[in-house]
Amino acid sequence: MSRRPLLQTAIPGPKSRAILTGGDGSLSKSYTIDHALVADRASGCWITDPDGNEFLDMTAGIAVTATGHCHPKVVAAIHEQSSRLIHMSGTDFFYPVQAQLASRLASLHPVRGDKSRIYFGNSGAEANEAAFKLARYHTGRKSFIAFLDCFHGRTMGALSLTASKVRQREGFGPFLPVTHTLYPDPYRLGARATDMAIDHIEMLFRTILPAEDVAGIFVEPIQGEGGYIVPPDDFLPRLRELADKHGILLIFDEVQSGNGRTGKLWAWEHTGVKPDIMTTAKGLASGLPLSATIASEKVMNWKPGSHASTFGGNPVACAAAVSTYDLLLEGGLVDNAAKVGAFMMDELKRQVGDHKNVGHIRGRGLMIGVELVKDRSTKERAIELRDKVVMHAFEKHGMLAIGAGQNTIRFCPPLTLTEDEAKVAVDLFAATLKDLTE
Ligand code: PLP
Repeated sequence: MSRRPLLQTAIPGPKSRAILTGGDGSLSKSYTIDHALVADRASGCWITDPDGNEFLDMTAGIAVTATGHCHPKVVAAIHEQSSRLIHMSGTDFFYPVQAQLASRLASLHPVRGDKSRIYFGNSGAEANEAAFKLARYHTGRKSFIAFLDCFHGRTMGALSLTASKVRQREGFGPFLPVTHTLYPDPYRLGARATDMAIDHIEMLFRTILPAEDVAGIFVEPIQGEGGYIVPPDDFLPRLRELADKHGILLIFDEVQSGNGRTGKLWAWEHTGVKPDIMTTAKGLASGLPLSATIASEKVMNWKPGSHASTFGGNPVACAAAVSTYDLLLEGGLVDNAAKVGAFMMDELKRQVGDHKNVGHIRGRGLMIGVELVKDRSTKERAIELRDKVVMHAFEKHGMLAIGAGQNTIRFCPPLTLTEDEAKVAVDLFAATLKDLTE
């Protein structure tokens, strides 16, 4: 029998409620916090709250716990490293595990050029901040292009690139010089999606943005927060061509789509187009804070002292990442993401593909989105329904899922997800849709 969520109390239960309401209100109000979930402990794809309720986690803590919650091998690597060396600041000193991780990532040749170099930070935003500075430093140019609905983080450089929700930007300007353009969403733009996106950039170059001022184009190979949108296969090749024509660096933000999530180590592998700079974080260390900005030796030509961070490349986080990579590659989790992702996509299409409110089911590997609409012929966005689905699935069926974009449900579970667990997730999603729409 497949394991199913176990709800022993109304959600939130009394112990969770005490934690939700009993604090002294000291936390910043800027956090989103929609779910009344209090996570007490977790293992694999399952989270237990203080009341003993067990939830199926199809979020992986927002695409982070790639190897599952508290994978024993990652936990052992953290224990071992933390009893040996917790911190020594890679800004000024060496320690073995940081060098070990850098050479492991470099050996995978994730960017264009012969030899890769790795800069370690603590978050996705920091990785993009580093990429932003590096692109300026390397090219001597000032401006950037990024895409509407894309998310790159919330520090000032990264926020200047982010164009996901007005709430994230209002009150924080002025921003750095980034011009935003159209992301090719095949569901909404149809067969001409790539042409429209490329034409729009060429129009920018003709009208308001001299191409020779542009240091880099930041792009998510699969759009994450914006709605789990997979662009057409010819989009990245055409973008590569355009960037090369104008001497612009192509920068892939693989913070969410990287580290095996899409069934390949990097999402760009689905199209074969390598970036000049790549950023990643989230799944990299299975839950410890770590990010990487990767570029060839030629592009990463900044001088000693030009960029660093006290905690970046922390030994314990690096040890967790080395162990994560063992599990992703030798341990077969990237392949599992491809296999179970394909199974889950088929199961979604089988169970809810014909539902009147399901507009589009899309994704790669275990990065899957279901776009909800009011009416399949007009594609009008079902924004309220999406929010209700997220809450109902959590409170009534014990499944954690979150939204992406205005009206898409995203599934980004741990890459350890089994076919049994994927089937349970789709059953619960179908039951949720039925409860709310019939
Ligand atoms: N880039 C992408 C594609 C993301 O999805 C995110 C976070 O969701 C970020 C950057 C920012 O990462 P962080 O929250 O670790 O700063």
